[in-house]
Amino acid sequence: MKIGKLVEEKQYSVSFEVFPPKTEDVRESVEQAAREIAALMPAFMSVTYGAGGGTSEYTAALAEDIQNNTGVPVMAHLTCITSSRDDIRAQLEKLRSKGIENILALRGDIPDGFALKEQNYHHAIELVREIKAFDPGFCVAGACYPDTHPEAPNQKEDVRHLKEKTDAGMDFLITQMFFDNPVFYSYMYKLREAGITVPVHPGIMPIVNAKQMKRTLKLSGTTLPERFHRILDTFGETPEAMRQAGIAYATDQIIDLFANGFRTVHVYSMNNPQVAKAILDNLSEILA
Ligand code: FAD
Repeated sequence: MKIGKLVEEKQYSVSFEVFPPKTEDVRESVEQAAREIAALMPAFMSVTYGAGGGTSEYTAALAEDIQNNTGVPVMAHLTCITSSRDDIRAQLEKLRSKGIENILALRGDIPDGFALKEQNYHHAIELVREIKAFDPGFCVAGACYPDTHPEAPNQKEDVRHLKEKTDAGMDFLITQMFFDNPVFYSYMYKLREAGITVPVHPGIMPIVNAKQMKRTLKLSGTTLPERFHRILDTFGETPEAMRQAGIAYATDQIIDLFANGFRTVHVYSMNNPQVAKAILDNLSEILA
């Protein structure tokens, strides 16, 4: 099922991101966690690809497992920066043969010391074009950055490139995590002003431990509002309290997004069914 169409039919929807196992020995536990998240019946689930040093090998397999065994629509992430054209076409063939219809087309982070060659993909837009040329039937999403992509010289340039990327055939966008809704609202204003009209799904990360927060912020270039710093300072050393505060903060962001006209939210659930459930429980009457 094409996600672009599917979320249009719902008043409010929440989707979850999961990541595949890094090694075979944890495959079963990751599949189990993904199935528990799927049992909560999110609008869809997305499966990352080689993110944070992980492997790309299991993305298609986990996506297929979720889609076939739970009926929850799936979006497979796909990055291109370290892949050859043949690698990408092989991945697309694999996804199509498994019945995966939705792809989040990404450049990927450039690995330290990686020498980019002429024949490599340089930006996600090239992957979007490749996917559309391979099979125009794929629903293609892309990433965008309310706090500006860390490599972009400024937001204006970042938005200009985003406009080119969406014009290449994007069905919708998912944002990098952000913790300050007004930053996102102001970003949305700039996207619309630049003529980017596709739906944008805000990405929300429930921060349930302080260590995770530091690592996450380093990778994403996302800034933290003063309000969240105070929460971290107050509860960061007490795991249960931090977990509760992090879930409450994410819930508060989602309710504010819904109240401001955004009907779809993508939650970075970090393979944690308890966190996913807690968020949905907090929204039960809203999503009913
Ligand atoms: P691009 O759209 O190519 O943008 C990257 C940078 O290049 C930006 O600064 C942009 O302004 C600039 N740019 C774009 N086009 C041009 C141009 N023509 N000329 C000059 N500059 C240009 N990573 C993973 O490895 N696996 C995952 O599964 C994964 N999932 C993600 C999911 C989401 C929702 C998000 C937001 C990110 C995800 N990432 C993942 C991280 C992502 O790969 C990185 O943020 C990466 O650095 C950029 O990818 P992109 O697709 O946004 O790149």
